[in-house]
Amino acid sequence: MRVLLVEDDEMIGRSLKQALEGAGWSADWVRDGELAQSALGDGGYTCVLLDLGLPKQDGTEVLRRARERGDATPVLVLTARDGLDDRIHSLDLGADDYLLKPFEFRELLARMRAVVRRRDGAAHSLVGSGVLQLDLTTREVVVNGEREALTAREFALLHALLERPGAILSREQLENRIYGWGEEVTSNAIDVLIHGMRRKLGADSIRNVRGLGWRVAA
Ligand code: CA
Repeated sequence: MRVLLVEDDEMIGRSLKQALEGAGWSADWVRDGELAQSALGDGGYTCVLLDLGLPKQDGTEVLRRARERGDATPVLVLTARDGLDDRIHSLDLGADDYLLKPFEFRELLARMRAVVRRRDGAAHSLVGSGVLQLDLTTREVVVNGEREALTAREFALLHALLERPGAILSREQLENRIYGWGEEVTSNAIDVLIHGMRRKLGADSIRNVRGLGWRVAA
């Protein structure tokens, strides 16, 4: 799953990116509001971590414009303790949650799971269709009642497909959801991933629609 990290503080940004990647997220880091705006325009993010005080364009402005465009990506605002008005304003503009700096990384991960879950329309940690479900907390897939561990990329791929069961996602859409900037993506990376997942989850778990892409059963 991809997260857009918007943070102009070098130290916080670097340590967050590293920690997020350690937790299995693919993290793209931008340091100002304009870059955040254009990264969001490209799409593909599961969630956004948004600092408010940013060069070039304020975080609240980034959020306001994204929501105006109809971008519904979950946004978690990371903010300093003294900015009560900013926090209220950002929630009113459509932020899904906020976290006060400094925070514990474990809490950040839990809140990220929570905003993603709510966007998926699930009050608990399982999302998905009948036969296939994903547990956002343990990053396992539940198939016919059995739990299977997934790699970070397998998890990201299945999460993208299960957001809209039955809808076809193209190779480009899947790559966009799984890989961050500057990551090497071989031309058959998606095929290799899906081949491995079919072995784990059954041949019918992910269907290929010739020339168009892949989907899971609705
Ligand atoms: Ca800042």
